Amino acid sequence: MEVLETLFSKALKLESQWEITKIEFLEKEGRINIFIDFPKGSVFQCPKCKKEAKAYDITEKRWRHMNFFQYACYLVVRVPRTECKEDGILQIEVPWARSEADFTLLFESLAMTLCREMPANRVSQIIKVDDNKLWRMMGYYTEAARQLEDYSEISKIGVDETSKSKGHDYVSLFVDLGDKRTIYVA
Ligand SMILES: [Zn+2]
Repeated sequence: MEVLETLFSKALKLESQWEITKIEFLEKEGRINIFIDFPKGSVFQCPKCKKEAKAYDITEKRWRHMNFFQYACYLVVRVPRTECKEDGILQIEVPWARSEADFTLLFESLAMTLCREMPANRVSQIIKVDDNKLWRMMGYYTEAARQLEDYSEISKIGVDETSKSKGHDYVSLFVDLGDKRTIYVA
């Protein structure tokens, strides 16, 4: 592996079975594509039972990663599906991203931090990603956070309704009056 590829694999903390096969620098587009593959015969974990399984087939996936200076950086990865005797054919999990996500975990943590501080369309302009993708990501993390919520101790709730802009679209807020936090918006 060449020096640059080695440097990038260290920076990405790639585990042994993954290797960078090519780095494409597209100066005009302001973009770097990092191609990642695995050697033939590599063994993966079945995402369900975690037992060793061989690659069944491969799909190319793309994740937006942290910028390299002003250049948008993408991981272009040949991701295998494994064939397990018990669980059948499944897409493996990769260490750098959720498999259905548009961004790597590092990029998501940056985007989520920004989304907490400013409106999504502003974040979309700063990090140059489509705001639909941001909403999809926020939807996932909001749902994940809601799964961890425990409402069993709530004894008093307040409900209030307001109309959205001018018209008959209403937004209803359900608030836990004890902890003064919003628990549901409809
Ligand atoms: Zn399995």
